Amino acid sequence: MTDNKRNFAEALQHPVFGTIRDIIESTGEEAYVIGGFVRDLLLSKKSKDIDVVVVGSGIALAEKVAKHHRGAHLAVYKSFGTAMVRLRDAEVEFVGARKESYRANSRKPIVEDGTLEDDQNRRDFTINALALSLRAETFGDFVDPFGGYDDLKNGIIRTPLDPVITFSDDPLRMLRAIRFATRFGFTIEDNTLNGIQQTAKRIEIISKERIAEELMKMMTAQYPSMGFKLLDKVGLLEYVLPELKALKGVDKVGGRAHKDNFYHTMTVLDTVAAKSENIWLRWAALFHDIGKPRTKHYDERLGWTFHNHNFVGSRMIPGIFRRMKFPTDERMHYVEKLVDLHMRPIILSEDEVTDSAVRRLLFEAGDDIEDLMSLCEADITSKNEEKVQRYLRNFKIVRRKLKEIEEKDHIRNFQPPITGEMIMDSFGLAPSREVGILKNAIKDAILDGIIHNDYTEAYELMVKKGAELGLKLVKEQ
Ligand code: ATP
Ligand code: MG
Repeated sequence: MTDNKRNFAEALQHPVFGTIRDIIESTGEEAYVIGGFVRDLLLSKKSKDIDVVVVGSGIALAEKVAKHHRGAHLAVYKSFGTAMVRLRDAEVEFVGARKESYRANSRKPIVEDGTLEDDQNRRDFTINALALSLRAETFGDFVDPFGGYDDLKNGIIRTPLDPVITFSDDPLRMLRAIRFATRFGFTIEDNTLNGIQQTAKRIEIISKERIAEELMKMMTAQYPSMGFKLLDKVGLLEYVLPELKALKGVDKVGGRAHKDNFYHTMTVLDTVAAKSENIWLRWAALFHDIGKPRTKHYDERLGWTFHNHNFVGSRMIPGIFRRMKFPTDERMHYVEKLVDLHMRPIILSEDEVTDSAVRRLLFEAGDDIEDLMSLCEADITSKNEEKVQRYLRNFKIVRRKLKEIEEKDHIRNFQPPITGEMIMDSFGLAPSREVGILKNAIKDAILDGIIHNDYTEAYELMVKKGAELGLKLVKEQ
C-alpha cells in the first residue's frame, strides 16, 4: 500500500537500513521504518531512535541484524515481543506489526499479529504513523495512509482514528499531543482537541512517572508556556498540577484587581526559557508564585497582598515533587531555594543597596545567584513600562554590587571560620541552643561587615559573645 509517490531512499543512509533490506529480501518479509524517525526526518531534525516494524517477528529480525553489525548489542523483550539493537550511533527498536484492542481500565492493550495498516492504525497521531519501506523493490517509498505528510507541513496534530476512542484507549496520548504541539509549535486540530476535552478525566489511570516524563519533555520546548496553557484549555491542568490551576483568575475589591498569576507565570516561564536551557530553572519559574493563592489578602490600605508567598510556595515544592515522582534530590532543593529567594533581589533593589544585604543574598543563593537574578528579572512583567525600566535599572546596580562584593569578600561559597565543633570544644558545651546563637552571631557579623571573614577576628568575637552568655572558656584554641 504505497499511496504516496514520494520516496526518501536518499535519507536512509544509515547502514542498518541496507542490512534490513538484504535480510528481508531473503525471507520475503516486509519491513518499514516508522514513527518518530520518519517524522523528524521530514522536519529536518536528527533522530537517534529508529523504530522498525516488520510484518513478522521483530525479535527474529533484530537477532539477524545484530549479527551483521560489529559491536552491536542486542536486548530482547520477550513479553513485549520487541527487541532493541544498539549500534555505535543509533538505537534500533524492532517490533512485529500488530493490531491492538483495549479494555476499559488499562492502557495495556490486547495484542495480535497484524498488517502494516493495522500497525499504523494503532499509532497516536497522523504525523507519527508515517512509514518508509525497507523492501528492495520499494526502498524508501513513503506510506502515509492518514495524510500525515500534509499535517506535518501544516503543523497539525490529529489522531488517525476517532479521537475519543484513541485517547480513552490510552490517555497518555493526551499528554503526548500537547507535548508534540508544544515542542513543534503545532496546532491540535479541533476534533482532536475536543476528544481530549471529553476524555481528560481518564488521565487518572496514567502513572505519575509517565506523566512526569511527558512534562519534562514539554519543559524543554522553546516556549514551554504553550503546553501549560493547553493543559489548562483542555481541562487536564487540574489533574496534573492543581497548584497551577489555582493561580488562575482575578479578584476585584472596590475596583482594585490583582494580576492573573497564571498568565503572569506563563510569561515568566518563557522569558526564563529564552535565557537558559536549565530545566530546573524553568520549573522554578513555573512554581515561583504557587504560594500566592494561600497567602492572598485584601487590605484597605495596601490593596492586594501575598505576604510571604515565596516562603509558603517553597514549602509546597517537596509535596509536589513527591507526588509527581520528580527527583527529590539536590534538583528539588534548588527549586525550593529559588522559589524561596525570588523576592529578595526585588526588595533589595527597592531600597538602598547596602553591602550587608548583598552579602546575605550571596551567602544564601551561593552558586545559584545568576539563576536567581535571571528569574527575578523575568518576574518583572508589569504593564507599566516606566516601572519595568526602573526595576531593570536597579537590577543593574544590584548585579554590579554582587560582583564587587563577591570579588572583595568571597561570600558565595563562604564557610564561617569557626565551626560548631570548635564552639563546643572551646566552652565544653554539648550540642545546644548556645552553640547556634554563637554560630549565627559570627556569621551575621561577617555578613554585616562588622568583622572580616577571618579566623582570629571570629575567635575574638566568639569569646566575647560567649562571655555575654555567661560561658567560660575551657580550652584555648
Ligand atoms: P520522541 O522519541 O521524540 O519522544 P516519538 O514519536 O519517537 O517521539 P516514541 O515514544 O519514541 O515517540 O514512540 C515511537 C513511535 O511509537 C511514535 O512515533 C508513535 O508512532 C508510536 N507511539 C508511541 N507511544 C504511543 C502511544 N502511547 N500510542 C500510540 N502510538 C504510540
Ligand atoms: Mg522516539
